[in-house]
Amino acid sequence: MRIEILNTGTELLLGNTLNTHGAWLGRELLPMGLRVARQTTVPDGPAIRESLSEILARADVLIATGGLGPTSDDITRELTAEALGLELDQDPAARRSIEAFFAIRNRPMAEANLKQALCPVGGEILPNPNGTAPGIYLPPALNPWFPCAVFLLPGPPREMMPMFHAEVAPRLRVLSGIGNPPDCVSLKFAGIGESDFHDGIDARLAAIPELEFGYCAHIGEVDLRLIGTPDAILAAREIVSARFGDYLVSSDGSSLEETVVRLLTESRLTLATAESCTGGMISNRLTNVPGSSAVFTHGFVTYANEAKTTMLDVPARLIGENGAVSEPVALAMADGALARSGADLAVAVTGIAGPSGGTPEKPAGTAWLALARKGASTRAWRVFQPRNRLDFKLGISQTALDAVRKSLCGIP
Ligand code: AMP
Ligand code: MG
Repeated sequence: MRIEILNTGTELLLGNTLNTHGAWLGRELLPMGLRVARQTTVPDGPAIRESLSEILARADVLIATGGLGPTSDDITRELTAEALGLELDQDPAARRSIEAFFAIRNRPMAEANLKQALCPVGGEILPNPNGTAPGIYLPPALNPWFPCAVFLLPGPPREMMPMFHAEVAPRLRVLSGIGNPPDCVSLKFAGIGESDFHDGIDARLAAIPELEFGYCAHIGEVDLRLIGTPDAILAAREIVSARFGDYLVSSDGSSLEETVVRLLTESRLTLATAESCTGGMISNRLTNVPGSSAVFTHGFVTYANEAKTTMLDVPARLIGENGAVSEPVALAMADGALARSGADLAVAVTGIAGPSGGTPEKPAGTAWLALARKGASTRAWRVFQPRNRLDFKLGISQTALDAVRKSLCGIP
């Protein structure tokens, strides 16, 4: 079944609004065994007409978003009716629901709102409990020249998404007849890159029948997407786990910080952070996770040398002799955070984000990390991640969180 998406809205092409509908719909369709064949974005106005006639001629299903509102640039409904040669009729139930929307809010209704109750003859109104513009479903072959099923959905995400779940997904299941969609799993790895998979693993995955796979690289992280039968996915997971099991962060889409919080919770351990170059990003990521308050105790952001001394008891002499970005200082930061917080683990980072501040021995991108754990000796290691400041911070926070993950999993 060839599904196409048409996103309408001048703001999407001016760059004022990020077009999130295409990506969101793609993610929703995949577990239903469906794919987006093509996504088109057009400004409001006549460009919609041209795209509609192209898509209606080649797709089995068109999902259009936006342009169902009351203003003069909202003409998706009208242009779709025109393209399919269908008259527009006012739907009495839709009219009542629009009138009720305003009555409940004690607001007068402008006459223009009533155009939202218009529906092409033969179409079905899709209720919109979150706004005034109902959606529209036009079953296939209302026009014999265009055997395409059409869904017209409102633009605001908070209206479009619930309408997709309630009205579009059930109809798509019937139209596609797919009862048993292939499984899809995303394995998240940290500490290795895409290229690590090319050495041996890639060819073995390609040899598994009925498996589709692909990679997506992020900073300090790579996702391996597996789509196929349960057996094919199992075979792939075995191959990958045997080789890269230590690097596996999650197989259910969980982020690295979510995995760290879960591991801490399960092992009833607490964590503190001592951050210099990441400026609190590690703490921020951890505290984005619900339940982190039970396992995350302190986030020391010690950006200045003096802060490292007063908050973490790093001897000023140590900083003077070795520099703030050094093994002894990273070790002292981690030990200080552990002692001051009373947590079970502490991770420390100190580095040079750049672009200035680097030297030949310690160029921008250099960082020292340390991990302290009660009852174990503190260890430190150096990394080099020359990137822009934001990506450097993200990469270092990734390395730090992954070190905590490994420690909690007993991985050396
Ligand atoms: P509309 O229904 O075309 O009037 O759109 C109403 C609101 O939804 C506007 O704020 C749009 O910016 C937003 N919107 C429309 N299409 C999209 C899209 N593809 N992704 C994200 N937001 C959108
Ligand atoms: Mg619009």
